[in-house]
Amino acid sequence: MSDFSERVQARLRALAETFTTQLPGRMQDIADAARTSLADEPSPDSLNEFRMHVHKLAGSAASFGFHHVTVCAKRLEHVIDMVIEDGGKPDGNTRKRIRMLVSELGESTRSHAAEEEELEELAEDFGEPQDTGGPGAITKDLTSSETGGLTPVSDSVAAQLPEEGLPERRFVSILVRFEELAQELSDQLAFYGFTLHRSRTVDDLVAAVEKDCHVAFVLDAGAVLTDSATVDRIAALKAKCGDKLRIIYISDKDDYRTRLLAARTGGEAFFTVPVDMPRLVDKVDSLTMAATEEPYHVLIVDDDMEQVSYHAMILQQAGMITSVVSDPEKMFAILIESKPELILMDMYMPGCTGAELATIVRQQEAFVDIPIVFLSIETDTEKQIEAVSCGGDGFLSKPIKPEHLVSTVKNRVERTRSMRFYMERDSLTGLLNHTHLMHNLSKEIQRAERVRRPVCFAMIDLDHFKNVNDTYGHLTGDRVLKNLSRHLQDALRKTDIIGRYGGEEFGIVLFNVDLETAVKVMDKVREDFSKMVHDSGNGHFSVTFSCGIAAYPKYDGPGPIGEAADRALYTAKEGGRNQIATT
Ligand code: GH3
Ligand code: MG
Ligand code: MG
Repeated sequence: MSDFSERVQARLRALAETFTTQLPGRMQDIADAARTSLADEPSPDSLNEFRMHVHKLAGSAASFGFHHVTVCAKRLEHVIDMVIEDGGKPDGNTRKRIRMLVSELGESTRSHAAEEEELEELAEDFGEPQDTGGPGAITKDLTSSETGGLTPVSDSVAAQLPEEGLPERRFVSILVRFEELAQELSDQLAFYGFTLHRSRTVDDLVAAVEKDCHVAFVLDAGAVLTDSATVDRIAALKAKCGDKLRIIYISDKDDYRTRLLAARTGGEAFFTVPVDMPRLVDKVDSLTMAATEEPYHVLIVDDDMEQVSYHAMILQQAGMITSVVSDPEKMFAILIESKPELILMDMYMPGCTGAELATIVRQQEAFVDIPIVFLSIETDTEKQIEAVSCGGDGFLSKPIKPEHLVSTVKNRVERTRSMRFYMERDSLTGLLNHTHLMHNLSKEIQRAERVRRPVCFAMIDLDHFKNVNDTYGHLTGDRVLKNLSRHLQDALRKTDIIGRYGGEEFGIVLFNVDLETAVKVMDKVREDFSKMVHDSGNGHFSVTFSCGIAAYPKYDGPGPIGEAADRALYTAKEGGRNQIATT
């Protein structure tokens, strides 16, 4: 590498370091500005100041490649802009949304600091310096946010903001001829915090999207896919909105042509009448959750730093996070620690070939399903085939068009994500299933050992749940399970691992949280859940849970910590239920 680019890299690194040290202060400024702006009568100045802080943070975070911070800040800025445009008086839903976004932003800045600290400690543990080769040092800084905000939930920025407790509402438009179905869907979706708008014409639909608040369409294929002008119009709207708008079709016909037109207009799901309502509701819910998905995380393995920067830049501009390794030997540490979702690998590196490296990756159970895409100037088809047969998933020839690189990476990661989702998740709640919860518990304990941090494992069991089923029916019971699952996801950090242990039992892994903090956090979750009102269709009721918590290092393996949490749970039940116990 030339002196010049080394100097530039060093300068960039220094700037990025300064920026990192300033992050907590800047986040505090944003939290303060948020509080002032959410006062009963915010002044236009306070909103503008709030916006400016957020805007600046988005800009500098982008320059230093702190991508996740940029994404969060931009989302927040967008909402503040809308508030300013609408006259500067945010309503309850918007306030709630702003608070949520501030909290997410805080989380993303904190997880950044934590990640850095952890990587430093790791380097010490391994007794070797960090791979600071070239741009890798910059891009690697922004690897996943897996360690999460380490501040206990109660101290988080969100907790400093005034509580309002209004559910966030998301809008869904429906255009169907089936009156009863629309009504039922409206009731069901309300339960999940959606508001359903009934549209009569495609014009209504378009107007709804232009208001920028619609996340999904439920369309009647027979009413919409009638003439090519309407088909084109819906396809164009979907193309314009991209992932911000999801389209689901309902149809009383199930033929090839209807399905083809539905796909052509960007329809992502197709239900035939009579519609399986729970599945439809789930689909709306899961598709719209996906709109706020974590950015894709790509690991680039290449010894040519110029190439690396180029590819990393393209992927980052498409909203992805990149990690970089120039020395193949260091690849496995990054694979374990920052869990990238795809490896973009050069075919020829000093000391080994891409095919050899792919073989080693595939020999390890944990990485059998991570997509590997080769990127090389190799034009010999036989060599390409050989590389792919060693466990690679695809081959891209250099030079590659940016949009081609982005779409290849995007498609592979999307497929892997959805395959993993079905393998690892419980179908009722969408949480990790038992096997994967325990697998994650084990991994988190190993990680805690390496970086010498505490981990807590909490087990939850609903109280007298059999009575709920007996009184209100099994379907209502299922809804309570979903409500609890949603509540846990909302109340805990994004990085906390939540699983369905079995039946009406749930397990939570809290990394870098001590027992005392875990008790505080879970007790708040317990209290809030006990106040939640569930609707059975013919009456309202509430449900409580008991919880047992055990901590590593006191219990130093997945087996012992699981048994200890179970014992604590038994103590909580014995003690009268609706409480937390520890051991
Ligand atoms: P305790 O406070 O002692 O935990 O009482 P409990 O009634 O909750 O405990 P018990 O173990 O006697 O009953 C568990 C109930 O959970 C019985 C079972 O039907 C119900 N359950 C388990 N899985 C599901 C599910 O997926 N859906 C529904 N609706 N109920 C479930
Ligand atoms: Mg039980
Ligand atoms: Mg129970």
